[in-house]
Amino acid sequence: MILLTRKAEFSSAHYYWNDAWSNEENERVFGKCANRNGHGHNYTLEVTVEGEVDPVSGFVVDLKELKDILEREVVSVYDHRHLNLEVPEFAAGPFGKIPTTENIAIAIWERLQGKIPNARLHRVRVYEMPDLFADYYGER
Ligand SMILES: [Zn+2]
Repeated sequence: MILLTRKAEFSSAHYYWNDAWSNEENERVFGKCANRNGHGHNYTLEVTVEGEVDPVSGFVVDLKELKDILEREVVSVYDHRHLNLEVPEFAAGPFGKIPTTENIAIAIWERLQGKIPNARLHRVRVYEMPDLFADYYGER
């Protein structure tokens, strides 16, 4: 078994807010991240897949295809979007999750799971900033 990682980048806006809480509670917990006009980050995504090296191609996965899958499933949906307003899994309402780095990593895993031929998803790592990232390995 071998691991292979591909990176991608996207820039998105977000804010942190829990509709079940009062304004004061949101501001106490989330601080300036609760500003509902939002703010932006340049996110870096690392997707690691695991599998066996194909003896003919020498690849674990077709790199062009993996790049296209990341573009289609994640970057085209998140890039230059306001996550709270434009991306269904983070939209306001009963099903919307707060777009923290942790929840973004989980959402990307769910978007990619089962979509990568000949390899298994191993890890999704999302950097919100160079010194802050979240890792998700699926449910274990
Ligand atoms: Zn932020």
